Amino acid sequence: MKHLCFAVVIISLSLMAAANPLLCPELPSGAQIRPENRYFEVLPRIVPANRESVIEIVPLFDHARPSENCAYELTYAPMEYPKQQDGWEPGKKMAIVPENGRFRITTFFESEQEHTFIIESTCDDKKKTVGNFRVYSVEEDLYKLRPYKGDFHMHSHRSDGIESPAYVAGACRRAGLHFMALSDHRWHDGSMEAHRAYADAPIDLRIYPGEEVHTPDNPIHILSFGANEGITELYRDDETQYRAEVAALMESLPPTPPGVNRFHYAACVWAVKQIRDRNGMAMLCHPYWITRNRHNVEEPLLNLFFEREVFDALELISGFGWESLHAMDVNALQVARYLEERAKGRRIAVCGISDTHGHERSDAFGRYFTVCFAPSPDLPDLIAAIKDLRSVAVESPAGTLPRAYGPFRLVKFTQYLLREVLPQHDELCFEEGRLMIQYAAGDTTAAQRLKQLQGQTARLYDRYWTPVAK
Ligand SMILES: [Zn+2]
Ligand SMILES: [Zn+2]
Repeated sequence: MKHLCFAVVIISLSLMAAANPLLCPELPSGAQIRPENRYFEVLPRIVPANRESVIEIVPLFDHARPSENCAYELTYAPMEYPKQQDGWEPGKKMAIVPENGRFRITTFFESEQEHTFIIESTCDDKKKTVGNFRVYSVEEDLYKLRPYKGDFHMHSHRSDGIESPAYVAGACRRAGLHFMALSDHRWHDGSMEAHRAYADAPIDLRIYPGEEVHTPDNPIHILSFGANEGITELYRDDETQYRAEVAALMESLPPTPPGVNRFHYAACVWAVKQIRDRNGMAMLCHPYWITRNRHNVEEPLLNLFFEREVFDALELISGFGWESLHAMDVNALQVARYLEERAKGRRIAVCGISDTHGHERSDAFGRYFTVCFAPSPDLPDLIAAIKDLRSVAVESPAGTLPRAYGPFRLVKFTQYLLREVLPQHDELCFEEGRLMIQYAAGDTTAAQRLKQLQGQTARLYDRYWTPVAK
């Protein structure tokens, strides 16, 4: 029996080794850039739905340039909806002639969906695929917005994390994030400290305030994102007022069902109000996280949170790495619960975060994040996006493809972005993050190089979203 187990282990290890080149991510975010997206520019990548647009596929290197001795064919396939406007039959091949060394395609982009353009070449009777190019068409409301990636539940050495706030901020940029917040336990100054560290460095990463709030005698972990003051300061030295206000809430709040700890409930309502009063967003952290062999939030209280929409957002995807996922897949429970509550018609804003405590040794950091669809990466726009259900939670445990959760329409678009847009963005961020870490280590010359890179990720988005002339 022992021998059999050994054989099974050997086989599965060799299968993993064989599969690794396909699965092994190239970037710290876990993203891989498809060869087509390295060899060619596809401009634009995002187009307005139900309109005619021009797409240019521009080879960037000699090995990708079209040759006069070859013939080219194009196959077009819209992912979901049939073509109704210009009679282009999905899947039918047609000849395409390169113009000035590039391919130009003018077509009507039906509805909100992904579109595939496959170009094949025939050179000396040899057929070859030039590339499989992807474009996404979106309705007006979504076309105006841009996807911003962020993580706002993370810890530094100011609470129980390992690295200093400035280091964490650099690591966040290196992993491809647009925005971040440190949410140290009972400590609001972590992000501010990171902010101060880069006060004289030109950086594009947005650093916003955060705090993991634990009000006295209340086991629920509450995340304050964006609040302009710390919540813990309200009771750190003197709990009298906190206790009086929670007691008053216990009197005034509507009746609660049996099994609900009314003090915990009132303490959460109190904390959410304090966070909102300071322009922050209150998120319920990891409800199904297991601590002392119990879920963090007792079921009757969790039911009430959903029924009464107590929080602004739910931590739908928590940053559990492989080890914790093997013990118990908490995220699977959180997702199942979210889907069931949504089916009841409840309104639930979602976030994904890493909850990382050591950024160099976490297999969750950079792989668990929130994508907000917002007009800008400014804090009020991001918070409004989350509250308006314009966000998705993303997880990509090491060795797996990223999965997005949230409203279907946004998940569908995010899947495209995670494959066709965000990897290129992550790669640009890598050097910026590396330079930020160098700067935080005391090398002020890194600031000049950061200055040269400033604006590059915004320009990438501009290229991908700006129509080319007809
Ligand atoms: Zn927590
Ligand atoms: Zn935490």
